[in-house]
Parts: sequence; structure tokens; C-alpha cells
Amino acid sequence: MKFVDEYRDHKLAKGLAERIARRSTKTIRLMEFCGGHTHAILRYGIRQLVPKTVEMRSGPGCPVCVTAAADLDKAIALANLPNVIITTFGDMVRVPGSYSSLQQAKAQGADVRVVYSTIDAVEIARANPAKSVVFIGIGFETTAPTAAASILKAQQEKIHNFYVLSLNKMTPPVMKALLDSGEVELDGIICPGHVSVIIGSQPYESIARDYGVACVISGFEPLDILLCIDKLVEQVEKGEPKVEIAYPRGVKPEGNRKARQLMEQVFEVGEANWRGIGIIPQSGLKIREEYQQFDADKVFPVSLKPPREPKGCRCGDVIRGAATPLECKLFRNVCTPESPVGPCMVSSEGACAAYYQYGTGEGFQAPPGG
Ligand code: SF4
Repeated sequence: MKFVDEYRDHKLAKGLAERIARRSTKTIRLMEFCGGHTHAILRYGIRQLVPKTVEMRSGPGCPVCVTAAADLDKAIALANLPNVIITTFGDMVRVPGSYSSLQQAKAQGADVRVVYSTIDAVEIARANPAKSVVFIGIGFETTAPTAAASILKAQQEKIHNFYVLSLNKMTPPVMKALLDSGEVELDGIICPGHVSVIIGSQPYESIARDYGVACVISGFEPLDILLCIDKLVEQVEKGEPKVEIAYPRGVKPEGNRKARQLMEQVFEVGEANWRGIGIIPQSGLKIREEYQQFDADKVFPVSLKPPREPKGCRCGDVIRGAATPLECKLFRNVCTPESPVGPCMVSSEGACAAYYQYGTGEGFQAPPGG
């Protein structure tokens, strides 16, 4: 298939891997921020392809995984209110909260519906004027503009029974929080492709400058990722950390101004609660006061029991890059995609799900005929 196969070419991948091996003299540690990258790296056996000098860790870029238990509990409490319809993306439904899940709430009679876009949620509100329809907004800068668009659509079309619980988060602040913690030392970051389509390359500049960490934005095909690693290794070897784009077909330095304007119109920056990390100031997107009639957090105050993490689950450590899923005692024995203990096994972008599905990789998996 054109535009895909050319980024999965087996010979080119081998050539790139050899170039990385020739360049790499120092032992370095890289983190792929994005869950999509984690899956691609394991699926295509990229860890086996790069030299042993390049250690790779997964990061906090899975939107479902980083949703704090307390926030999930709030979504479940909203689902249990009378006359409320909860709308959300698929993975969220199965994630265990502290005491229940949206799936369990649904089984007990709550109206929980999976949607494929925020606009679907607005349409459900239009079709159910006697109900309150709450969209659970999770994700990073990639999905935040669509949540903003849904609020503007509801406002323009005078749909007064539509609300958003904004749990949306921002990427660069969590990268800085991880580096500030000093828990995991990094030499380079494989920066997320989809997020960067929106925010561009500029927000990573201070990471390269102030932390001395190389930042390269990558696409999701194996050659994209290998090219990104090649650039990261080159920067570290030269001692010249900077921001580069290894995904020029998707990302422009200035990002997508229109999407950012939409996001900035509806949201303001505030604190966010991250699973495994806690509250990070200036890392979340809160609904601005002028749109507060759409803010589920303000319209439906709920009281919650103290949150708790699933016993034995190391999702927090996995999210921070402090442990791999293989270091969790429950991995594969107790925790599986059919019976997940934590969100990192539920989500299609979770690191535990990726390790379960692909192991640690078997070497480069070329497509048929590739
Ligand atoms: Fe949590 Fe399961 Fe991952 Fe262990 S394997 S960290 S229990 S999601």
C-alpha cells in the first residue's frame, strides 16, 4: 500500500539500524512519550534492531492510563446520577476505577455510551433533550480541539443539555515534571507525532535547552521511528541537544494554529491529576468561565470516596518510565487484556497491553512482501 509500505521497507530499516549502530558509542536512554510509539516499537521489534547502547523506556503518553483514579471515580459518579447519559471513547469504559468502572455502572443500569467523536456526543444530547449528556474528555493536545469544538457547536446550536468533563492534559509539562523528578534520567525523547501536529515543535525547545535532553518528533511507522532514533543518537553523540522533526509529512514547526486557537478559546491552562505522578500545575486544560454552563465539573458536583489504586498494579511506575510491565508481578499471570487489573493493560495505547501483545519484540516484522 502506498504511503505505508514505503515506511516499512525491511532493507531501509536494516540500513538505518546499521547507521545507528555505527554512530552510537555512548550508552544512552531514550523515552518514547506516546503509547502509539510504544506499540509500534514493540510490534516491529525496534528495540532488537537498535544497538545495546540505546536503552528505551515507555512514557506517560497513553491518555486512558494517565487518567487518575479520582477522575475516573468522578466519571463513574456522574454516570450514576439520574437522567445522565455518559459518552466516552471506548477504552475508558473498561478501566477499573477505585470501586467500580463505567462498564460496571452500565451493567447496573447507568446509561454509558461509547462514541467515536465528540460531535456524536453532541448529537446524543440533541436527540435526548430530557437527559443531561456528559462527554468524558480525555487525551492530550490531539483531542482537546475536538472537545472544544463540541462545546462551541452545542453553544451555537443552543443545545443546553450537553456537558464536558475535561480531563484533557498537556504533553510538554508532564515531560518536564518527569525530568524535574530526577527519577528516570533521559538523554532523549521520541516526541509524539499526533500531539505535535497540533502544537508544533516550539513547545519542546525549553526541554532541549534547559534540561539538555534531545527531542525529536517521530511518526508511527518503523522507518519514522528509526530515523528519529538516528537523529537522537546523533545529537547525544555530538553533545548538541535540540528539537528536530523526523516526521515532516505530518508536523510543521508552527503546528496547527487553527486547532490551537479553538483549544485556547474554550480552555485555559490549569492543574491536572496524573495517575502515578499526582497533581502537576499548568498541565491540564480547564473549561474557561465563559463556557462554564458546559462544564460537568461545575454543573454536577459529586462527593467521592478517597481514591485507591488496584492492589499490586505498577501502572504508576510504568507511566513514569520507572519500571517496565515485565517488572509487575501481576503481568500476564493475573493481569491480561481479558481481565485487566490496571489501565495500562486495558488501553489500546497502554504499555502493558503492548508488552502482552508483542512480547519484547522478535526483530523487525516487515509486512508481507516488505
Ligand atoms: Fe497494572 Fe496489569 Fe500493568 Fe501490572 S501488568 S502494571 S497490574 S496494568
